[in-house]
Amino acid sequence: MAAQVTLGRDAPVSYRCAAAHVGISGSRRQSRRAQVQRDGLVREPKGGDEMGAVDIPAGETKVADAPGSVGGPKIANRIVRLGSETAFAVSAEAAAFAAEGHTVYPFHLGDLNIATPDNIVEASFKAIKDGKTGYCPNAGIPQLRAALADDLNASHKTSYAAENVAIQPGGKPVIGKFILTLMNPGDEVLYPNPGYPIYESQIEFHGGVAVPYTFREAEQGFAIDLEGLEAAITPRTRLLILNDLQNPLGAECSSDELARLAELVLRHDLTVLCDEAYFDIRYSGASKSLVSQAGMEDRCVILYTFSKKFAMTGWRLGGAVGPREVIEVISKLNVNDESCPNHFIQYGALEGLLGDQSGPLHILSLLKERRDAAVGLLNQTPGISCYAPNATFYLFPNVTGAMALKGFTDVEDFRRAVLHDTGVSVCSRVHFGRPLPGESEQYIRLAYSGIDTAQIIEGLTRLKAYLS
Ligand code: PMP
Repeated sequence: MAAQVTLGRDAPVSYRCAAAHVGISGSRRQSRRAQVQRDGLVREPKGGDEMGAVDIPAGETKVADAPGSVGGPKIANRIVRLGSETAFAVSAEAAAFAAEGHTVYPFHLGDLNIATPDNIVEASFKAIKDGKTGYCPNAGIPQLRAALADDLNASHKTSYAAENVAIQPGGKPVIGKFILTLMNPGDEVLYPNPGYPIYESQIEFHGGVAVPYTFREAEQGFAIDLEGLEAAITPRTRLLILNDLQNPLGAECSSDELARLAELVLRHDLTVLCDEAYFDIRYSGASKSLVSQAGMEDRCVILYTFSKKFAMTGWRLGGAVGPREVIEVISKLNVNDESCPNHFIQYGALEGLLGDQSGPLHILSLLKERRDAAVGLLNQTPGISCYAPNATFYLFPNVTGAMALKGFTDVEDFRRAVLHDTGVSVCSRVHFGRPLPGESEQYIRLAYSGIDTAQIIEGLTRLKAYLS
């Protein structure tokens, strides 16, 4: 399984994926006895149960104890495979630093400090007062399912009906539910790296093999490494996770790249999760979706979220949109997991989709002003170069030169030093999936969704002074 590591401007580095499979027979159905993963851990199924597999360092023969096994409740073996979103740990670090009395400029978390539009708030209040406080249908209220189908049909040129939509408590649950519905243990799943860390976590938690594909720095921004992606496909590859308009890179596929991806998906018989969390966070032009390519509507499940477009991160509302047979299973998972999405909030979301659109337009204009302020200052800072993505609210500047200026070789040491010396709190590349062999450049990630323009200017001016 060859993949390309091309993050960085320099010549791409080819490598053989370290995920050599030891003892796997050719058949997809047969259980693996042991396998060496990319991180050098050996995965060894316990008692023939794939879901009971634990990770132990390569070379060790003893199966490691699961966490919590020394006294107290015994935590299930599968939990060692569950990852996390370590950006929340950076948040805690920044909060602790602020609690000591320091000024912190919060660029670390993709949350918004912008209010949810009033019309959505009012419609939700009204729904509470109207008694929409009991359970609702498991896949959400029919009006919202239909409105979301219509909304996507207008932007994606699709033919979805209400039955193609299962409303969710946020966009994030779609990731795990998609994987549970379509992936068998041992299946390989292609996922973006750097990328949203929950993909890696959920694939491995449910017993799949997470196979990364990557990106390279191009003229205008980061571009998907399609050659590397194709080279990583094997007969075991079942699923592809695509987060076009990407967190953390702001990367987006051209029409040509989407057409090539669609061709790949058909040729290799893949099913795709199109994580479109940032589809509507776009400052000019129109977003495009893989789903709009010929033959893709039957093979893609869209992750939709109300979180970003309507500044509703804490309301927890999103949707899975795709082929009916998949949506039926996902709705059954809703029954098992949460019974139904929050009832009254769905009336607010309905108002968001159908009502006055000045709220989302205002959010976009604030974000664009912030992006321009941040990119301008970063590109004036010694050792830093930064693209201005046309979508998302993230920046992924190359800080290789800045680290050299200050004598750092570890990007996390650099990140902590920047926090302590300037108050600027960011994430680094390591918070977006396990770094791949051969990566030559160093990056940090800034989210400008949770910080006002004046604070952006103040914080990044401090960063500039620190590096000058
Ligand atoms: N996908 C991506 C790429 C994200 O960045 C996020 C949130 N940061 C989500 C999904 C999930 O967002 P939510 O659950 O709030 O809809």
